[in-house]
Amino acid sequence: MAELLTEVPTRALGVYAHPDDPDVSCGGTLAAWAKAGCEVHVVLCTDGGKGTADPTVDPGELVERRRAEAARAAALVGLASQEFLHHHDGELVDDDAFRSELVAAVRRLRPEVVLCPDPTAVFFGQEYFNHRDHRVTGWAVLDAVAPAAALPHYFPEAGPAHQVATVLLSGTLEPDVWVDITPTVDVKDAAVACHGSQFDGGAEWATTAVRLGAEDAGRRAGVRYAEGFRRLRLGG
Ligand SMILES: [Zn+2]
Repeated sequence: MAELLTEVPTRALGVYAHPDDPDVSCGGTLAAWAKAGCEVHVVLCTDGGKGTADPTVDPGELVERRRAEAARAAALVGLASQEFLHHHDGELVDDDAFRSELVAAVRRLRPEVVLCPDPTAVFFGQEYFNHRDHRVTGWAVLDAVAPAAALPHYFPEAGPAHQVATVLLSGTLEPDVWVDITPTVDVKDAAVACHGSQFDGGAEWATTAVRLGAEDAGRRAGVRYAEGFRRLRLGG
């Protein structure tokens, strides 16, 4: 039996690699929680400056464009904050410096729930494998959440320890909980459509893909539209 996650946390933090990732991965959930009074924060690890197939696009201009797209999407979703760590796109490294930034964000924002990519999800069918930045982000967030953020002797300069209760891994091949996003699927569509730099041919195929994915997850969850996650309950 599919388990629907109905509890809304007080504070949630999504940590993703690229400016469009949270909206694509869990925009319906973030919007539903924000609407229900949850304080929803997002940290974007890279600037997205390589996210184009067009060699004439200036990476600096792309970074600015993507920042503006992400800000518009954040307003639609109802985020309490959206922060960039300003790493170069495609160059994330799971090292102490990166993890200490993530630990500092977790300890400052003190979320009950952290959402991030499932780093073990590599091959999706026969036509796509997961972006390196997504995998690196997933592993670094997991290591930052536990044990690092929860134990004071890890990165003592990064603020007082904080235990995250639950991690929800998105983009997973092994979902075990679902959030009903029927009331917010339109917000998710609109948020994804803000990232026009990522589909110069028009947002329609992206929003169609969002709908199909949400419908597919909904079938598994027993609702019209859903987002699926692999859940880790860490206590706290
Ligand atoms: Zn991405």
